[in-house]
Amino acid sequence: AGQTTHSQVVVLGSGPGGYSAAFRAADMGLEVTLIERYSSLGGVCLNVGCIPSKALLHVAYVMEEAHSASAVGVTYAKPEVDLDKVRAFKDNTVKKLTQGIQGMAKGRKVKVVYGYGEFAGPNQITVDNDGVKTEITFDHCIIAAGSQSVKLPFIPHDDPRVLDSTSALELKEIPKRLLIVGGGIIGLEMGTVYEALGSEVSIVEFADQLVPAADKDLIAVYSKFVKDQFNVMLSTKVTAVEAKKDGLYVSFEGKNAPEGQQSYDAILVAVGRSPNGKKIGAEKAGIQVDERGFINTDNQQRTNVPHIYAIGDIAGNPMLAHKATHQGHVAAEVIAGHKCVFDPKVIPSIAYTNPEIAWTGLTEKEAKAAGIPYKTAVFPWVASGRALGAARSEGKTKLIYKEDGTLIGGGIVGINAGELLGELSLAIEFGADVEDLALTIHAHPTLHETVGLAGELAAGTITDLP
Ligand code: FAD
Repeated sequence: AGQTTHSQVVVLGSGPGGYSAAFRAADMGLEVTLIERYSSLGGVCLNVGCIPSKALLHVAYVMEEAHSASAVGVTYAKPEVDLDKVRAFKDNTVKKLTQGIQGMAKGRKVKVVYGYGEFAGPNQITVDNDGVKTEITFDHCIIAAGSQSVKLPFIPHDDPRVLDSTSALELKEIPKRLLIVGGGIIGLEMGTVYEALGSEVSIVEFADQLVPAADKDLIAVYSKFVKDQFNVMLSTKVTAVEAKKDGLYVSFEGKNAPEGQQSYDAILVAVGRSPNGKKIGAEKAGIQVDERGFINTDNQQRTNVPHIYAIGDIAGNPMLAHKATHQGHVAAEVIAGHKCVFDPKVIPSIAYTNPEIAWTGLTEKEAKAAGIPYKTAVFPWVASGRALGAARSEGKTKLIYKEDGTLIGGGIVGINAGELLGELSLAIEFGADVEDLALTIHAHPTLHETVGLAGELAAGTITDLP
């Protein structure tokens, strides 16, 4: 039989948004219940997203480094992959973090209730754990129920050879020929992993560039570098998939569509994620959900129902863990009576590919769309001693700034671009201009020096490159 409990704050979903909100609320003295349908806390990011993908990308990176070492005079034998050990490394990485979250919940006396939660009214959620129901009433609620992979109607998703990011991360086997539908960040990251582990990877993307959200000049560097690794079909779409015993036969349409059906051993569908807004009984609480399943909020993360908040993937784009975390903190602090808002200048995006593609603040596309006049300065890594010495000079560092020099965005493509991006994010949030970057002493020879040198190019203190 079920029971009824009351909590000052109920958080629905234990991903980066949910656990961050729950912990911050508990730290501020509120009594918190966290609801999660799965037995492991941490949401998509920790269990089947950010973390396992990065563990596998590390494996891919190690292999690619060993392979390319021949260019600097070191040749290794052909690598042998023990898939069970690779999987165990990934699973242990995930486990350390999810268990950490569990410990942190316990340490704060956050009550965790497992089961599927749905609103039963404006101040009540019903949690169903295999038929055992718990009624939880609340004063405040934070919805952090996240998102899930989009499925396509013309793809037989119930065929075990059709993967989404979750099943692809399970690494059951390495298909000989893998088609990735969708050339966004998740598609490219998984493609990087499978290519390193031995698959022939084809990528089909409807837009005319990979990672359509990023600026074209950054992507051009990446695309050139990986042109022999992937068979990329831009401006092309899949129109049909026929599942036969000996393969998945795919029909394409568009600018780079191959003639006739092509056969693959597996297909990974990575065409985006859709928010879970329509699956939580929102209407019973009077919460407005848009037709895509997003829940709109004000800049304090409040929905149209003033004591109910929404954060993370379910509250809109970009669907990124660090955005969810920050929104979670804002919601918890607002509930605790603090005057705080979510109003960032930057939400950095990173594709942890090889090379990495990273951007922060406004892209050129966004600046143009917003009608903001801007200039750019680009420092090519062929002029970086550190990049040359690492045999990886394909990268570039770009600044986007207003006519008065104020930085509004930046992009980096190259090894470690994701780590290098931090400086640009901080500079933009601090209101720095290009001269601030130019006048800051950057250590030599480093990759982050390219940020300072791009600043010098923008400020006009250097005018030529070696
Ligand atoms: P989620 O993490 O989606 O968590 C929602 C939680 O709510 C889940 O645990 C779910 O089980 C639970 N839930 C949902 N509905 C209910 C219900 N009715 N009752 C009970 N529980 C419920 N982002 C990055 O920033 N960096 C990355 O490198 C990155 N890599 C990614 C790689 C992959 C393969 C994928 C798929 C995503 C990646 N993301 C990455 C995106 C990131 O995972 C999400 O933006 C982030 O997890 C969103 O956090 P969230 O708290 O909004 O929701």
